[in-house]
Amino acid sequence: IIKLDNVQQVFSNRTVLSIETLELGEGEIVGLAGPNGSGKSTLLKLLAFIDSPTSGVIEFCGIPTSNKPGAVHRQATLLVQEPYLLKRTVYANIAYGLRVRKKNDISTKVHNALVEVGLDPNSFSQRQWFELSGGEAQRVALAARLVLKPKVLLMDEPTASLDTKSAQLIRTAALNARDQYGTSLVIASHDLPWLGEVSDRTIHLEHGKIVEIT
Ligand code: ATP
Ligand code: MG
Repeated sequence: IIKLDNVQQVFSNRTVLSIETLELGEGEIVGLAGPNGSGKSTLLKLLAFIDSPTSGVIEFCGIPTSNKPGAVHRQATLLVQEPYLLKRTVYANIAYGLRVRKKNDISTKVHNALVEVGLDPNSFSQRQWFELSGGEAQRVALAARLVLKPKVLLMDEPTASLDTKSAQLIRTAALNARDQYGTSLVIASHDLPWLGEVSDRTIHLEHGKIVEIT
């Protein structure tokens, strides 16, 4: 669904990412591992079409993304390390994207999305954004993305602030998204055992280059 060809990202004359070739299949779950500064977040931002590469071609469904930047942007969504929530209730946060897209049955969908990420709708729907712990906020942000059934979901260290049980919930949610909507996922994480359990293959980055695929 996404193909990278000879892609480089350069920040102030420093090449921080250099990928000769990389393909993300439909419904594939790819792990992204590597030390701090190895280029994981940089790659995720390219895959989410948030940043454009300094050089090289990124194709989405066979079409170079430089041709249709707006159209592809809506197909992929990135869950960042420090997720941003609207300064409103949990319900409003998850409903927001559905409202923008004029979807029906919003309350049912919000309810199901909360269950999906392991948050009890009765206790969480009407909570304000500031009444959430870091891990809860992380899961609300994930629910807000899952509810839109994205073609591509990128997650940057989604389990970093989560306990083991919540990390397993994220794993289940990722697998469900793939099985139910055919979502393709790329997940960056320092938790290699967890990453191995959730992903079909893991790409190891070092100094911006792919050094191993397991
Ligand atoms: P971590 O595990 O710490 O999250 P990472 O693998 O996600 O690391 P990146 O955030 O992709 O690493 O950063 C790769 C390199 O690019 C780092 O050396 C970083 O300093 C540099 N970098 C990232 N974004 C920018 C930017 N906007 N401007 C300049 N340099 C940047
Ligand atoms: Mg990072």
